[in-house]
Amino acid sequence: MKIMISYPPLIGDGTPTLGQNRQFQWFHNPSFIYPMVPASAATLLKVNGYDVVWNDSIAEMHTQKQYEDILIREKPDIIAMETKTPVIKQHWSIIERIKQILPEVKVILMGDHVTAMPEESMLNSKVDYIITGGDYDFLLLNLLNHVRKSEALEPGIWYRENGNIKNTGKFQLNHDLNKLPFIDRELTKWKLYGEKFFKYAPYTYTMVGRDCPWAKCTFCSWTTLYPNFRTRTPESLLDEIDLLIKNYKIREIFDDTGTFPRGEWLKKFCQGVIDRNYKLSLMANFRFDYINESIAPLMKKAGFRLLKFGLESANQGTLDRLCKGTKVEDIERGCKIAKDAGIGVHLTIMVGYPWETKDDALRTYEMARKLLDKGLADMLQSTVVIAYPGTPLYKQAVENNWLRFKPGEWEKFDMTIPIFNFPDMQPADVMKICDDIYKAFMTPRFIMRQILSIRNFDDLAFLFKAGKAVIGHILDFQRKKE
Ligand code: SF4
Repeated sequence: MKIMISYPPLIGDGTPTLGQNRQFQWFHNPSFIYPMVPASAATLLKVNGYDVVWNDSIAEMHTQKQYEDILIREKPDIIAMETKTPVIKQHWSIIERIKQILPEVKVILMGDHVTAMPEESMLNSKVDYIITGGDYDFLLLNLLNHVRKSEALEPGIWYRENGNIKNTGKFQLNHDLNKLPFIDRELTKWKLYGEKFFKYAPYTYTMVGRDCPWAKCTFCSWTTLYPNFRTRTPESLLDEIDLLIKNYKIREIFDDTGTFPRGEWLKKFCQGVIDRNYKLSLMANFRFDYINESIAPLMKKAGFRLLKFGLESANQGTLDRLCKGTKVEDIERGCKIAKDAGIGVHLTIMVGYPWETKDDALRTYEMARKLLDKGLADMLQSTVVIAYPGTPLYKQAVENNWLRFKPGEWEKFDMTIPIFNFPDMQPADVMKICDDIYKAFMTPRFIMRQILSIRNFDDLAFLFKAGKAVIGHILDFQRKKE
């Protein structure tokens, strides 16, 4: 039986950020994040004897015609596709087209949107199965074993039977991640993937946990997929790193767990990296309230070069409403601890909360500018707040009538324009502030510091790449202003 894990080409204003993306955008200067869980699924299926095709027509920038040629050439029995709110309707049309080309094929959808609203896709498309929850790997294997060997379906799967829509109940995240094989990098075309903050090639991604020990932020779409946290052991990640260094001479790794594990787990991992004497640059997502003066130096010693922190907003009222679990004062304190230890800081910031005024949004801009100017942050990314179905923020938005669009106008949730009404801002004001936050890099002190930090070719190439990325993002938001 042949299964194709597939990202078909999508139509929109740029290149879509779909696989492994907790938020969706169209980019004009794209880079692609390694879809870690679908890659794990491809590997698990192959190890279990299935014929697996990895097709990422988004990252490979295939045309529609090229994609259809792949379908005709490969003739898969089953196609599994990850989807997200802004492109769910496109995926319904794609399923229609796939079934015209391959009438016998079975199609599976997975992702946070269909986890929140599985029935919608069963009713509005010819999809055969929907996998809910984020364990695509375990559930895909179960589903294929069901089709091939009549294995009983696990909870979390929607299907059709005699013209009726049925499901096996609420998904359960009770699978042991340590039992998964390490991702087959050749099968899943690892060289396609890498964001612009990578510095030392060859680089790649890992994902040791699913997905975040905090898992409470009301806007976070992956809490829909992973309401509880599981992680592999530190030894398991160390062994995977071993393999990556030996097989691919990897010099830099970004672990894309929503928030990297902390506490004893982290100490054990750092000590393991030090003991194994890797010459490796590491990056991870972290939280301001998880970094402290005792762990930061150990992380630096282990090779952590950059940590990504969700700043989100400089307003305590907003952090509280988001259940972020951090204080405004944690932000500068956390940046300083990381920087004092010699670890770079990447901030993720959002504008366009439905309750924030223009002054609130400008306060966030001002904080970002100051942190960059004072050398307490090295890079940032700024996005417009989107409430995806399945998140508490979406529920609040519907209940409080914050949305400018009707539920169902999903294509409007693509960050091209804000989806909320604001107390005293127009959509264009929000896009401008988002754009201005990217320009916050451009203080003379920040630019001088970057130039003075150039030591070698890697530094120079990185600075050039980062500059290009900032310009690309500014153009993205300028194009989108109403
Ligand atoms: S800390 Fe990050 S990954 Fe965790 S719930 Fe909040 S936004 Fe999501």
